[in-house]
Amino acid sequence: MGTSIHNVVIVGGGTAGWLSACVLAARRPDLSIILIEAPGIATIGVGEGTWPTMRETLATIGIEETEFLRECDASFKQGSLFVGWVTGAPEDRYLHPFSAPPPIDMRDVLAAWRADENARSFAAAVTPQAAICERDLAPRHPAMPDYAGTLNYAYHLDAGKFAQLLARHATERLGVTHVAAEVTGIIADGDGDIAALALHDGTAIGGELFIDCSGQAALLIGGHHGVEWIDRSDVSFNDRALAVQVPTQAESAIASQTIGTAHRAGWIWDIALPTRRGIGCVYAARFMSEAEADTVLRNYIAAHMPEADAGNLTPRALSFRTGYRARFWQKNCVAIGLSAGFIEPLEASAIVMIELSVRALADNFPASRAIMDIHAQRFNTLFRYRWERIVDFLKLHYALSQRQEPYWKAHRDPATIPSRLAEQLALWRDQPPSAWDFPQVDEVFSAASQQYVLYGMRPGETVSLSRPRSEACVRLAEISERARALVAALPENRAYFSALRAHAA
Ligand SMILES: Cc1cc2nc3c(=O)[nH]c(=O)nc-3n(C[C@H](O)[C@H](O)[C@H](O)COP(=O)(O)OP(=O)(O)OC[C@H]3O[C@@H](n4cnc5c(N)ncnc54)[C@H](O)[C@@H]3O)c2cc1C
Repeated sequence: MGTSIHNVVIVGGGTAGWLSACVLAARRPDLSIILIEAPGIATIGVGEGTWPTMRETLATIGIEETEFLRECDASFKQGSLFVGWVTGAPEDRYLHPFSAPPPIDMRDVLAAWRADENARSFAAAVTPQAAICERDLAPRHPAMPDYAGTLNYAYHLDAGKFAQLLARHATERLGVTHVAAEVTGIIADGDGDIAALALHDGTAIGGELFIDCSGQAALLIGGHHGVEWIDRSDVSFNDRALAVQVPTQAESAIASQTIGTAHRAGWIWDIALPTRRGIGCVYAARFMSEAEADTVLRNYIAAHMPEADAGNLTPRALSFRTGYRARFWQKNCVAIGLSAGFIEPLEASAIVMIELSVRALADNFPASRAIMDIHAQRFNTLFRYRWERIVDFLKLHYALSQRQEPYWKAHRDPATIPSRLAEQLALWRDQPPSAWDFPQVDEVFSAASQQYVLYGMRPGETVSLSRPRSEACVRLAEISERARALVAALPENRAYFSALRAHAA
């Protein structure tokens, strides 16, 4: 049988560490879980946009939605709006919403959409969510049960407050032990497994399974095991960000989506929370200096938040590596979070990968050391696939652009486009993205996501379409009707969160 696995030790108290601790503790109350966090080493704590999976994760952990929304200064995220990604012209924008198009043959949907004389965007034609986002409305009524929505949704949140809430929940309600200490050494057994972690005070903490959530330090998976980092900066160029938080007025509108505005060598994120907007300039150091990025950021803030004193803000400079590990589970160590990989913040794929990783671990938790290598191999195959698909999907946003600046042209160089994506782009000229292209359970970016980006950026793509069928035309008309009904019925985000706060007071 080998040693049974009972004691789990997590290194790192960022989003990855505390989410892993909460999910494992909630799913596997029989385990003893210790989380070690160096108080002197800061977390990244930028991650402000999540994926709809977060609703299920929070429900699994046992946190009520209202508690989460209040404690994390969170708002609803219903998708991403891309501005200036195709040509950079003022009217250049498209939405990638979280609610899927109608579940009928996409060729019929496309034919009906193209034949529609209202000339709406793809997203506006195929889901009522576009109309809801356009008006800054919430995806649910306050009286609905926790985590239920009229439309699919995720969250924008304050990552620092989120980690604090998770830490409190893990230690006070789920029995996780928190150790504030720096890990200074790794004690291995004769087979290379980690036996214990040495702390700065001379003590050591042992366990049977170790989870590396130490962020870019990658203390265990990189530092100890030396698992190779697969660099993907040849495909995904961005490696820097300048991030700032700008307080907002109590009555200002709260956008329903992350707004991603392209600039000459990257893009700017704009995320509205009830009390502030998180704004950041993502760029590639190869194409833009920090001083230029700073100007791009301040110009954006001056243009979009004239009430803010853009000149007096102090952005935080971040740099990140683009890629992922060759293996995420090595011997008795699993890497989750930035230690496992990171491909720029576009489409918020990092926190969802944390959720998927810990879910896979909890669903396939090894009973003993003897069976662990089989779990490790399956986990590594699955997550290699997922990271590769993230690289492809993010690249899609750049490969379809027609912008002419050197950064954007370099993104369209065929040598930088992964072969699977190049094949799909060729295929999608004849047939729409479908589940045939993304056949795995829990694909991070499903065929629907690909359709929103493809037809948002290239409305004319997919040439071989039949004449519109009446069933599809009827479905699109129903979607318009439903959009009108929901616009009349759903509250504005600002009203939703004001009521939430008033209720708590
Ligand atoms: C610019 C930017 C924007 C982003 N935006 C998004 C987004 O919108 N959505 C999204 O999903 N993700 C986003 N991310 C990614 C997201 O922030 C991270 O995936 C997430 O915060 C998880 O980080 P982490 O917990 O792995 O690492 P960190 O937050 O870096 O935490 C590392 C932890 O390890 C501890 N540690 C390190 N060394 C030691 C040691 N020797 N001993 C003990 N403890 C140690 C530290 O104290 C810390 O607690 C963004 C990232 C960047 C860079």
